[in-house]
Amino acid sequence: MAKILAFFNHAGGVGKTTLVQQVGYHLSQCKRRVKGKRSRKKGDYYRILLVDMDPQASLTTFMGIEPYDQEKTIYNAILKDEELPILNALYAGQGMEDSNGLDLVASNLGLAIAEQELMTAVMKDFRLRDSLEPIKEEYDFILIDCPPSLGNLTYISLVAATHLLVPIQSQYKAFKGVQPLFDTVRLVSARPNKSLKIAGFIPTMYDQRNSHDERTLAAIQQQLTPVAKVFSPIPRTTTFADASEENLPLALFDNKHPALEPIKVLAEQLESLAL
Ligand code: ADP
Ligand code: MG
Repeated sequence: MAKILAFFNHAGGVGKTTLVQQVGYHLSQCKRRVKGKRSRKKGDYYRILLVDMDPQASLTTFMGIEPYDQEKTIYNAILKDEELPILNALYAGQGMEDSNGLDLVASNLGLAIAEQELMTAVMKDFRLRDSLEPIKEEYDFILIDCPPSLGNLTYISLVAATHLLVPIQSQYKAFKGVQPLFDTVRLVSARPNKSLKIAGFIPTMYDQRNSHDERTLAAIQQQLTPVAKVFSPIPRTTTFADASEENLPLALFDNKHPALEPIKVLAEQLESLAL
């Protein structure tokens, strides 16, 4: 059964979508672990589904899909009770020949009306969870890219998730703004999704040469470690933007880039999360 990981922070521009793309790609290139060891079977890679829950559709764009060309998006599944419109096998054949590639449920601006429609929808809370139900055995990881808001689209994403990951920009102001997020998480885990686990915080856009970032990272580690794991920081580099301009994950854009190592480590830590 898939681990369903929601990447959420109500602030925009903190690196959520970038992480979903990078971590998703990395996991898709990993062979399944059997009793701690990587499978030796040909083609036995993790199966990954990315779900774009943001009407701004950055993830869809980052994956090289044109949002407006999509007749069906996640909207059709959560509000029209249609089957999940899964687009498949992006990047397959690039890098590792026999990996499964990545599957995606796209979004576009049409999803924006879902915020209001969900308000009056029957069994609102479970709309995404129920949409994922029929396919969750087919994947090892489902990564949900949440919108930058505390609204209904985020709420139903957290109800559907098994684990929450919170990217936090390594800047003091960004870190201080994280508090309202806990209220939403508390609301979800109080009732509709009691088993939601906070898998951890991911400091992003970290510049180790900058003493402000260094101090902020120390504060994040000190104050948030009692709540959940604080993962190693993802370095600040404009190469992420350069790679996404080409619709590529960093590994296919520059396979020697130093930022690949912390992403790889993060992906491996996510592999060993307990359900
Ligand atoms: P969010 O989904 O939280 O809004 P994005 O992943 O879209 O954030 O990132 C916002 C912008 O910051 C994008 O232009 C992206 O390329 C850039 N970015 C993301 N991660 C990093 C990083 N580690 N270092 C530098 N720029 C980054
Ligand atoms: Mg985003």
